[in-house]
Amino acid sequence: MTTLRRLGIYGGAFDPIHFGHLAIAEEARWACCLDQVLIIPAASQPLKPGHYAAAHHRLKMVKLACASNPALIPSKLELERPPPSYTIDTLRICQVQYGTDVELVLIVGADAAADLPRWRDCEQIAHIARLAIVHRPGYTLRLDSIVAAIPALADRITVIEGPQLAISSTDLRRRLADGRPVRYQLPDAVLDYIIQHRLYQAEE
Ligand code: ATP
Ligand code: MG
Repeated sequence: MTTLRRLGIYGGAFDPIHFGHLAIAEEARWACCLDQVLIIPAASQPLKPGHYAAAHHRLKMVKLACASNPALIPSKLELERPPPSYTIDTLRICQVQYGTDVELVLIVGADAAADLPRWRDCEQIAHIARLAIVHRPGYTLRLDSIVAAIPALADRITVIEGPQLAISSTDLRRRLADGRPVRYQLPDAVLDYIIQHRLYQAEE
């Protein structure tokens, strides 16, 4: 067994998981020399309106999507505690589970990175984890304003150009509700699961 030295922490709604998510997890794994990347679906927000999938479905889709890559590890860490899912709590739990010798690298897309200054205990996040920010089509990365808001992040950020896939779960949910194609934007196994469980359908 190889010792874990660097662990990627990649959270999101994954509603559903798509090739944009998988491609940036793989790119961050390579760019930051990560031994593994935990893919961590967030707990469902009870009052979020719209066609969203339950947590157990989102976790199952993550498992199906990661099945062929031993470095991508589905994690139900955030589903084991009540919402909201705060990243700082997840990082602290990972620190306890994996030990402080394992370097934690938090992976976020450019849109999520812009929100970071509003995340709970963002300064603490910067002390516990390094950050991998991945460019995303349609979003401009303003690194200087993120570092100005969270000075502890200076020198702790790796910017990843990424494959820049213009795929989003919002668009996929709309397409599924409208009966438009989604194939080749997410793994076939995930699409089969969505169809089998009639997820993201338009309301009658
Ligand atoms: P939604 O449209 O429902 O918000 P999403 O496609 O943005 O879904 P999330 O689950 O919200 O997916 O994203 C989880 C993380 O993945 C976030 O850090 C987000 O920035 C990043 N991400 C998602 N899709 C992409 C993409 N195509 N390129 C780069 N980063 C992405
Ligand atoms: Mg999003």
